[in-house]
Amino acid sequence: MTPPPSSAPRRIDLHTHSTASDGTLTPAELVRAAAEAGLDVVAITDHDTTAGWEPALRALPPGLTLVRGAEISCLWNGVRPGVSLHLLAYLFDPDFPALAAELARVRAAREIRGQRIVELLRADGVELDWTEIHTAAAGGSIGRPHIAAALIRAGLVATTTEAFGPQWLGWRYRVPKPDIDVFRAVELVRAAGGVPVFAHPRASRRGRIVPDELIVELAEAGLAGLEADHEDHSPAEREHVRALAGRLGLVVTGSSDFHGTHKTVRLGAHVTSPQAYERIVAQAGGVSPVVSD
Ligand code: AMP
Ligand code: ZN
Ligand code: FE
Ligand code: FE
Repeated sequence: MTPPPSSAPRRIDLHTHSTASDGTLTPAELVRAAAEAGLDVVAITDHDTTAGWEPALRALPPGLTLVRGAEISCLWNGVRPGVSLHLLAYLFDPDFPALAAELARVRAAREIRGQRIVELLRADGVELDWTEIHTAAAGGSIGRPHIAAALIRAGLVATTTEAFGPQWLGWRYRVPKPDIDVFRAVELVRAAGGVPVFAHPRASRRGRIVPDELIVELAEAGLAGLEADHEDHSPAEREHVRALAGRLGLVVTGSSDFHGTHKTVRLGAHVTSPQAYERIVAQAGGVSPVVSD
């Protein structure tokens, strides 16, 4: 038998969701699943919350490194109406007051928006129950996937993808929420010692995307990286993002954006290179990656 190479390639997945937001595995189940999937590094990046950090840390299997993060709901206000975009934030201080306050504000807005969507559905005779949806979310940051799951339970749609179609949450029952201005979010994440990476910047099938000129401005404002390898990017879009990152000196990441059974993508379906990961860790000053032994 040959021994394993001393520098075995590390498998690094920097974007996953748990029941702290719209994933279907608890934070503890998520880190166990990450170890079982053969990952060496996993980031927990729930929408607008750090509530999954503690339970993920407590359950961390030996040898797996946990990167604590979040996916922040942002808005680019350079056009009307603004374009919604997602900013991954890694290793920031969760108690940094201005950032914690903004995340709490967005979580509260998610509750109001969710309730409003259910009201609109009910006004059209779709008998969903907000209390039931809220209970099913079990304290997690409420998102449209929770409403999609209720539509599936009611037998009105077959899949999450169908629930995000134009007849449902994608357009007809789309209600905006007051997300954080993306420049302010970049500034706050940096001020909190975190490292901001633009999630799936070319995912046009989810909605409108932003122009490259905005990404240039964000890089000047402190953006650290771009997520290139993501299931919602075509090969050409991945290449475009990679080239743009190269021009701007930004870190390139790849990640699964795992959501449990809310999506079909598996943990580790896309990964980040060890070099890119090290560049992120080198810029972080809020909290550290944690590995248990
Ligand atoms: P929200 O943050 O409540 O607006 O919901 C956004 C979340 O819904 C994303 O993070 C995805 O998990 C999911 N999502 C968005 N677009 C789609 C889509 N077209 N198909 C399936 N899930 C989607
Ligand atoms: Zn999500
Ligand atoms: Fe996202
Ligand atoms: Fe995500």
